[in-house]
Amino acid sequence: MNKVYRITLIEGDGIGPEVVKAAKLCVEASGLKVEWEERFLGKTAQEKTGQLIPEETLDSIRRNRVALKGPVTTPVGGGFRSVNVELRKKLDLYANLRPVKSWPVCTSPFKDRKIDIVVVRENTEDLYAGIEFNSEDDFFPSLACELEKRGLDTKKERAISLKVISEENSRRIIRFAFDYAQENRRKKVTCIHKANILKFTDGLFLKIFYEEAKNFPEIISEDYIVDNFCMQVVLRPENFDVLVLPNLYGDIVSDLCAGLVGGLGLAPGANIGKDCAVFEPVHGSAPKHAGKNKVNPIATILSATLMLKYLKQEEKAEKIERAIEEVIKEGEFLTYDLKPTRDDPTSVGTLQMAEAIVDKIKSFK
Ligand code: NAD
Repeated sequence: MNKVYRITLIEGDGIGPEVVKAAKLCVEASGLKVEWEERFLGKTAQEKTGQLIPEETLDSIRRNRVALKGPVTTPVGGGFRSVNVELRKKLDLYANLRPVKSWPVCTSPFKDRKIDIVVVRENTEDLYAGIEFNSEDDFFPSLACELEKRGLDTKKERAISLKVISEENSRRIIRFAFDYAQENRRKKVTCIHKANILKFTDGLFLKIFYEEAKNFPEIISEDYIVDNFCMQVVLRPENFDVLVLPNLYGDIVSDLCAGLVGGLGLAPGANIGKDCAVFEPVHGSAPKHAGKNKVNPIATILSATLMLKYLKQEEKAEKIERAIEEVIKEGEFLTYDLKPTRDDPTSVGTLQMAEAIVDKIKSFK
């Protein structure tokens, strides 16, 4: 008998409900038997339950061990802190996996070259530890006193964020990257850092990288300073395989890599911990496009294929990937972001592209 999988489904904010619906249709078309358990997060959750991260959402993910999630909005500057950062911390989803590969789309400057890069981003610390101070903070005077000893004038307006890198969290993400490389027959792991300037924090990350690399002699290990890496990856993306990075560089570099292959509409992601995993696109909630049936659903559909692989349903995942590839190649059902100009009259909506992928998946049976 076919196993029924119970999966937590979080639509998210902005364009979230549209892209999540598309991914759900594709998963069902692949033949996976699913019971979706719908839960809320972020602004939607706050409106419905008064909480940004309701306990029932966390319980559902812990119980089911797997969630498919749309993006959620975080206010810029003020307002509440990132729900995503908090969710990853609460569930200890320490590894953020963001694979990018070339697609035959006109928006990719490298459509005729082979890009196949997996970004492994540390997901719980670095500047995302959320330890920030401004002069209104009770702790600021004692911190200011310490900083003045180091020559910083704290009488002027200042704000301070702490970059936290720990031996333990660095070691587990670096091991994750090497294990991933080994399991997926990858040849090289590249550590990205700024250890020339941040000698203690990034210096620690880099030191642990080379300690762990000794356990994987069959895999090439190398490192790049982040600014040089950004130039090198644009010039010669084929030279890179698996990347491992502290949180902030991982966030920025994964968007850069998405740009190389045609944009955020094609960039999937997974947040993986010891006990559970949350699958979501790299992109955000793109509020200006919300409810317009406009954006590309592929990033979320590909996030669902990462979920299928995590559930050891490789065949179903491959079927969806093949359907996406064919729909892209045929070029008839493409959203605006995969067209030469943004107002191309031949672009289709989110749902139409999803339906074209679903039809392809069904045609493979
Ligand atoms: P964004 O990713 O929402 O949008 C950046 C650009 O990419 C926009 O031009 C947008 O139109 C385009 N884009 C995004 N997704 C697309 C898609 N599927 N198809 C076609 N084009 C797409 O980033 P932003 O504008 O910086 O952030 C908006 C909100 O999303 C913020 O509140 C931010 O905090 C949040 N965010 C959430 C997540 C998450 O939930 N994991 C990730 C990133 C940003």
